Amino acid sequence: MIFANALIRKGIEIEVLESPTVGIIGVGEGSTPWRRGFFDGLGIEESEWMPASDATYKCVRRMVDQARFRELLPPVRVDARQPDDDAVRPQRARASERRGRVDASQPVLLAVGLAQGFIEPLEATALLFIQRTAMHFVEFLEAGDLSESAQDRFNQRVNDHFEGTRDYIVTHYKTNTRRDTEYWRANAANTNLSDSLRQLYGLWMAGKSIAPDVGRQVIGKGYPVFSWYCIMSGMGIFPDQKDLHPPTAAENRYSMEEIDNLLTRSAQNFPGQRETLTNIPPKNRERSLQIYFW
Ligand SMILES: Cc1cc2nc3c(=O)[nH]c(=O)nc-3n(C[C@H](O)[C@H](O)[C@H](O)COP(=O)(O)OP(=O)(O)OC[C@H]3O[C@@H](n4cnc5c(N)ncnc54)[C@H](O)[C@@H]3O)c2cc1C
Repeated sequence: MIFANALIRKGIEIEVLESPTVGIIGVGEGSTPWRRGFFDGLGIEESEWMPASDATYKCVRRMVDQARFRELLPPVRVDARQPDDDAVRPQRARASERRGRVDASQPVLLAVGLAQGFIEPLEATALLFIQRTAMHFVEFLEAGDLSESAQDRFNQRVNDHFEGTRDYIVTHYKTNTRRDTEYWRANAANTNLSDSLRQLYGLWMAGKSIAPDVGRQVIGKGYPVFSWYCIMSGMGIFPDQKDLHPPTAAENRYSMEEIDNLLTRSAQNFPGQRETLTNIPPKNRERSLQIYFW
């Protein structure tokens, strides 16, 4: 649909092949918030696609118990220097590079979805990979640049997304608190972590901010910093007391009681889940504040 939306109006034909014998493998029973941006991009109202897919909003995730994370963490060295990151190094244009037009005689093969790879076959980011890959591809196509260096940059972007997602998923396993089977114990004890994940854990456990490096997407790639805050704090992973700093004047302005109180009172202004699902309002077309992360 992303390709159709971007390319058909330019006279590019799209042919969809579906095997009568090979069924569709996946579904997408849970999806990331970016799904909303996908439909927005296609101009399809939430009030249209939510009821049609018989979907529901998942609002809350509760994580309990404190992990023995520190003991199981491999030694990490907090390094304030930036990792040598090829992704941000300017690429030298190759002689073969052509800008401004796509050479139709040179076929380009793009693997998307399960054909491009997966981290976990049931992973709820798989559809996001498809979405982002298609969007990046359209972006490169529209720039008229399918040169070798553009292909390298495209692949780098997709790889960064895969690696960031891998790190995020590994963190779910690494921070798990189950001790009932060898499988979960082995995952908690796993020290086979990527350099960027070690770097992130190192900063976090030393009580240092991960925000600048995640913001620059040097570590924790593909995820905004609040996702990392959610998983680390949600799993009860915090630095040792001695590594915590007292709140600054700016931080001390916030009182958890007041925040809880605001949330409780704010929640009273919203209808229940069932009522929301039966009455999804159409999107406001006027200029207004829309909050979602995209
Ligand atoms: C149980 C389950 C739960 C999942 N949950 C989620 C989730 O919550 N969120 C999420 O994001 N992802 C989820 N996933 C993953 C996601 O659904 C898949 O990664 C995604 O749907 C794969 O899309 P695809 O287009 O690569 O493959 P498919 O959707 O399987 O499409 C492949 C298409 O190719 C056709 N085909 C195959 N061979 C041929 C051939 N020889 N000739 C012509 N056509 C052919 C098939 O007929 C099919 O139409 C889940 C997967 C599973 C199995």
